[in-house]
Amino acid sequence: MEAPNLSYWEKTNFYTTDIVIVGSGIVGLNAAITIKKKQPTLNVTILERGFLPSGASTKNAGFACFGSISELIEQEKVGGTELLRELVRKRWEGLQKLRSLVGDDKLDLQINGGFELFKAEEFALKDECVSKISHFNAIVEDITSISDVFSVTNSKPKIFGFNYIDCLIENKLEAQLDAGKMIKALVQIAASLGVVILNNCVVNDFKEEENFISVFTSQGKFKVKKLLFCTNAFANQLFSQLSLKPGRGQVLITKPIDNLKLKGTFHYDKGYYYFRNVGNRVLLGGGRNLDFFTEETHQFGETPLVQNTLLRLLKEVILPDTPFEIEQKWSGIMAFGNELSPIVEEVAPHVFCAVRCNGMGIAIGSQTGQEAGELVLRSF
Ligand SMILES: Cc1cc2nc3c(=O)[nH]c(=O)nc-3n(C[C@H](O)[C@H](O)[C@H](O)COP(=O)(O)OP(=O)(O)OC[C@H]3O[C@@H](n4cnc5c(N)ncnc54)[C@H](O)[C@@H]3O)c2cc1C
Repeated sequence: MEAPNLSYWEKTNFYTTDIVIVGSGIVGLNAAITIKKKQPTLNVTILERGFLPSGASTKNAGFACFGSISELIEQEKVGGTELLRELVRKRWEGLQKLRSLVGDDKLDLQINGGFELFKAEEFALKDECVSKISHFNAIVEDITSISDVFSVTNSKPKIFGFNYIDCLIENKLEAQLDAGKMIKALVQIAASLGVVILNNCVVNDFKEEENFISVFTSQGKFKVKKLLFCTNAFANQLFSQLSLKPGRGQVLITKPIDNLKLKGTFHYDKGYYYFRNVGNRVLLGGGRNLDFFTEETHQFGETPLVQNTLLRLLKEVILPDTPFEIEQKWSGIMAFGNELSPIVEEVAPHVFCAVRCNGMGIAIGSQTGQEAGELVLRSF
């Protein structure tokens, strides 16, 4: 259905375009930027259903990471060493691409290191992770040319003020950034290249016509040559054949804390919990593994089970001696699948998707968007 009362100008300038990208998260924006940089004369429009991006890109924890040791062990089990090497390479190169495109200042990127925490009683997991440090250091050095990226540090749990934690594995390359600043900067870069971003526009369906594609949205029908879905966890609402599932991540942030001791990004329980400092606040998220079934949802929201566990973790382990208050809670939706690589493919004639960043889209989102943009361009 066409939107009512469209002018001739609106119809020809906004509703007819060469490429529509659905979703203005990190992948959609990078795809649009790639296309416009390579083919400036093509008209590119992003349709975003939210007033702001409404998936994961502005709701995440802002870890610029490429995997903690326990995550890398799990991922190596799934795909083997070569696949893991390629994945780590993509994550690393993706982060470098993001940094050179946006600039560290605009990302508020700080390389404060990343740390994986082990409780004293988790000696089996700790021993396995420690025994793999040299193996993963060799892989990471091969990619980054930097040696001894992972190392054990037994003094820092006390310095950071943790309880019950007797060992940390440090990743000296891990960084943190401001996810809101990242998307704001990407929106500005896309706009400066001539990308049109239209918000509050839900794409409901599409149809292949003789020489174009009709895109049916909550704001009426668009006429386009190529259509690219960068809708991550929501992609299976239109393409049930895609192998991905949504996973909700619940997050909270404290009010400012005087003399906060911890600084950096922290991973706990094989990455199922993550926390960091944001200035002198603590941001903590995770707990999806407490109830995978409930958290496999497209709905934003919080549950008492996850929230109470996050609070307990803060009180007992992270800030045992420090009074704190919670300022804000929110959630975001990620996409997971059995395979670790994102899906970048043609899903129907002239229709493409770039989805499933498996919870590490800050690292892999730029690469995924670039691959998708290049795939669309090759199809012209
Ligand atoms: C709580 C949380 C913490 C995270 N922490 C980190 C982290 O620290 N480091 C890291 O690397 N990654 C992290 N991630 C993962 C990372 O944020 C994602 O992998 C990444 O943002 C995915 O980007 P995307 O562009 O593919 O998807 P999204 O950002 O989800 O973008 C998809 C967009 O598509 C839009 N959309 C969907 N359907 C439609 C439709 N029908 N019509 C129009 N628009 C539509 C959505 O509104 C959304 O804006 C986290 C995620 C969450 C939720």
